[in-house]
Amino acid sequence: MLPAGLRVPVVVFDLEWSSPFAYTCNACSRCCYGKAILVGPYEVLRLARNRGLTTTELLAACVEGGGVLLRVRPDGGCVFLTERGCGVHPDRPLACRLYPLGRNIDAQGRERFGHLPPHPQTAGVYGRDGTVGDYLSRQGVEPYFAVGARYAGLYQRMVAVLARLAEGGVEAEAAAAPGMGPASPWLDVDATVAAYCRERDLAPPATLEEAVDLHIRAVDAWLEGLATSLPAAPPAA
Ligand code: SF4
Repeated sequence: MLPAGLRVPVVVFDLEWSSPFAYTCNACSRCCYGKAILVGPYEVLRLARNRGLTTTELLAACVEGGGVLLRVRPDGGCVFLTERGCGVHPDRPLACRLYPLGRNIDAQGRERFGHLPPHPQTAGVYGRDGTVGDYLSRQGVEPYFAVGARYAGLYQRMVAVLARLAEGGVEAEAAAAPGMGPASPWLDVDATVAAYCRERDLAPPATLEEAVDLHIRAVDAWLEGLATSLPAAPPAA
């Protein structure tokens, strides 16, 4: 559920990579108020690493909504907004890089983009002298898209497994991150990877890329374990 006061905008996803589009941000920061900024494991990991925090610490301090949304301050501003603008600009989440666009991948794997409604007093300037692809490249979305694609199948599997456990009244065993709920191993990368390495006598990851690799393996192993507690499928009619 979204925190009070936040709404999901209605967006028409009718743009492709080659569609005409340009946007110049003039750093008014108005887009950093009243937004539900979703984060995934890669975003949490990057934000934590470059602040000298573990993902457990970052999640506790900066994330809400069951562990998937950046915390919103009482004045509606993002937890990372400073007087000089975004305080985490090099590691800002994908949603902030895409803005003022949103991205949708439909059931057939077709990728489209759409205009998010701008703040009425935005200082950002829209244009058509470029393409969606030009804009996104300048925003550094490539690693986010690439890692997101690696996690996509795992995410679908986790949602399906947790839903089946919930239907059967079985509580998923989750580690670390207080208040995170059953999907804690999904976002608390450091705690999940540390437990995985400890149990298998593996060296801890030295780089962010190694952490992602090990996390994908750890979540896969976690889901394998959860699958053994799934309620038996009803007999075929
Ligand atoms: S992470 Fe940065 S760009 Fe994104 S909403 Fe927060 S302050 Fe704004």
